[in-house]
Amino acid sequence: MARRDYYAVLGVPKTAGPDEIKKAFRALAHRWHPDKNPGDSEAERRFRELAEAWDVLGDPEKRARYDRMGPLFTPDGKPPRPEELNELFLDALGGLFGRRRPGDRGEDIRYTLSLSLEEAARGAERTVAIQRTVSCRDCAGSGDAAEGRTPCAECHGTGKSATRRFLRNDCPHCAGRGYRAPRKCGRCGGEGRVAQEEQLKVKVPAGVATGQKLKLRGKGNDGPGALGAGPPGDLLVIVDVMDHPFFRRRGNDLLCEVPITYAEAALGAEVAVPTLDGQTNIRVPPGTPSGKAFRLPGRGLPSPDGSGRGDLHARLVVEVPATLDAEARAALEEFARRAGPGAHPRKRAWAESLRERTT
Ligand SMILES: [Zn+2]
Ligand SMILES: [Zn+2]
Repeated sequence: MARRDYYAVLGVPKTAGPDEIKKAFRALAHRWHPDKNPGDSEAERRFRELAEAWDVLGDPEKRARYDRMGPLFTPDGKPPRPEELNELFLDALGGLFGRRRPGDRGEDIRYTLSLSLEEAARGAERTVAIQRTVSCRDCAGSGDAAEGRTPCAECHGTGKSATRRFLRNDCPHCAGRGYRAPRKCGRCGGEGRVAQEEQLKVKVPAGVATGQKLKLRGKGNDGPGALGAGPPGDLLVIVDVMDHPFFRRRGNDLLCEVPITYAEAALGAEVAVPTLDGQTNIRVPPGTPSGKAFRLPGRGLPSPDGSGRGDLHARLVVEVPATLDAEARAALEEFARRAGPGAHPRKRAWAESLRERTT
């Protein structure tokens, strides 16, 4: 059988560097992978061809030999076996299809932590219950039952193949384990990992905001395969600061609307204003306009970098009486009659301007 030109199979020039060859293989293998083309024999043939080309051109030694010998070259005289193809493919693409294999890093876990604004301001220590996927302790992550294991005859228990084929030299007969196991582990059902709920302490620094991520390194899922073969993932705690009945947040500042009566605004008053650490009073001077904001320095949230605190802005909003009894109504009418021309300067200026424009 005449072998194809491997460079043509991958669509790269003979001068292509290793990166270019790898890139070409990845793109084509992605396109022709049997998983993506089920039942398509043409795709299967192309994929085989790609794998064979990659096996040679992806290995500098083999590639040099191929370049010297051309069509006479045979990798080792045998076509690759299906499980080797798959292994080769997974090696080269590294979890492109989301499949994890022994030695990979464990998955990250995301957890949304809801906090009150007070907790966000002060910082908090919270215990959260996390579902982690951890290495099975009965089989140390291998997925194989301990009973009935026999050393692999092919690799004499080493798990290593004498001839390096493709990218790894794991023994293909025992997948690098060094033994044959007739039974799956009873605890994890052969998965090597089990789901487990864990209580974890999360330290929330003062000043956090919604959307901020706190990373607990190594508290994600354990990696698949033998215990410690791959590092565990991380736990990402995503902060969600709940709405507050009084405060809105703007950076490290807090905004608060404080309703006051017409009389308080006109006559002046002591008005109670909420803060994150209890309430405080502010002096509203006589004649304070509606919408006036008072700044309470340092009563906002701490900056996460420790450079001081934001402010609290209390905005006074005059509430117009919703209902009036006869007596209050009479008093207000009396007030309207008595309020001199200087009582409402803005209204007066407005009325004058309106008159000038319309006459
Ligand atoms: Zn073996
Ligand atoms: Zn197990």
